Amino acid sequence: MNIGVVGAGIFGMAAALELRRRGHRVTLFERGRIPNPEASSTDVSKCIRRTNYPHRTYVELASRAAVQWREWHERTSRSIYFQTGQVIALSGFGPEHPSLTGWETLSRLATDIRELTAKEAEDRFPQLVLTGQDRLFYDPWAGYLRSGQALEDLAGLARDSGVTLREDTPVEAVEETAGGASVRWDSSRQDFDRLVVAAGPWVAELLPAMRTRIRLTRQQMAFFVPTDPEPFRRGRFPVWSILSPGNLWYGFPYLHEGWVKVAEDSKVDDTRADVSREPTAEFLDWAREFVARHIPALSRGELVGGRSCLYTNMAVMEDEQFVIDWAPGRQRVLIAGCGCGHGFKFGGSIGPVIADALEDRENPLGDLFRIGNRFD
Ligand SMILES: Cc1cc2nc3c(=O)[nH]c(=O)nc-3n(C[C@H](O)[C@H](O)[C@H](O)COP(=O)(O)OP(=O)(O)OC[C@H]3O[C@@H](n4cnc5c(N)ncnc54)[C@H](O)[C@@H]3O)c2cc1C
Repeated sequence: MNIGVVGAGIFGMAAALELRRRGHRVTLFERGRIPNPEASSTDVSKCIRRTNYPHRTYVELASRAAVQWREWHERTSRSIYFQTGQVIALSGFGPEHPSLTGWETLSRLATDIRELTAKEAEDRFPQLVLTGQDRLFYDPWAGYLRSGQALEDLAGLARDSGVTLREDTPVEAVEETAGGASVRWDSSRQDFDRLVVAAGPWVAELLPAMRTRIRLTRQQMAFFVPTDPEPFRRGRFPVWSILSPGNLWYGFPYLHEGWVKVAEDSKVDDTRADVSREPTAEFLDWAREFVARHIPALSRGELVGGRSCLYTNMAVMEDEQFVIDWAPGRQRVLIAGCGCGHGFKFGGSIGPVIADALEDRENPLGDLFRIGNRFD
């Protein structure tokens, strides 16, 4: 088939690579340059974890993704995938909370994860102050991906495999035609057999039926330069999450950029796709306070900046499943995205799920992402 993919974030890139691998002709449209600094995928780092997933589908997809990320890491010129382990601290949740049920799901599937005592956690990760937390877990499997770099490298692989990349091409409309679907931009038009719309937070601009079905939230992060980077290097400092009802802080070891990233995940700040990606002064103050409490050695360093990034959530916030399905009322335009706050890692395994949906093939790993009656 001749397939157009709109959007070169991780969902569009994964789709383009897999569709091309299956022998389709693929054109990937991107409104800016790849990686687009405004895309949700373009960030210094994203966590790859298998914890906190109540559905086995995600645990399976995360395992498959890691294998593919490892392969891409070895094929591309720069390093993009680091296995660092992850510490998870939970407090204030009832036993039915997804963080705890997800932990139980995972404990049944993986033998190398552990619950830590407070003393064990303190001995092993003295950089983190975790007193007062109800439960502490450690998963050695987890790590992080250098996300912006990864997208740039994957674009190179896509180009080499024969995907046509059309950068600086903001698509204005996608339309179904008698035998297929078309893409319009500027005063040009291109016809395809089928289309994938992977436009991240901009999806409703091309598919207005999504407008009331998604909710965009602004999420922020802060970058700290430690006075001494050694205790924060990979191998000594893991990816970590400290969760309590209403607050989820998480962070990474010392990154290639020369800082330690600390971020917060509460989905309370509703926004629009064109919001500034600069951090707010309020958030940076809040991050400073958090770091002083939980990572005191880092708080002696310098806060050098931050960034905002958008989650594309479902309007029903409890529904954190992606959307990989035909757009409402369409038969040849497939949506791939709504990655909420956790989609990037699945770039290594979501391509086949998207390609199967586009080729009308059954794939039980895609069942969670079908629209069904989720929008009713
Ligand atoms: C702060 C933050 C932290 C996160 N942390 C993690 C994490 O630790 N682990 C994890 O797995 N996930 C994480 N995520 C989630 C993850 O980043 C997203 O789920 C994922 O990147 C979404 O990818 P996407 O391809 O759907 O969208 P995007 O990356 O936004 O890509 C969409 C692309 O489409 C292009 N586009 C849009 N409209 C058009 C058009 N009309 N024409 C042409 N091109 C167009 C855009 O320019 C953009 O490049 C995080 C997200 C944020 C915001």
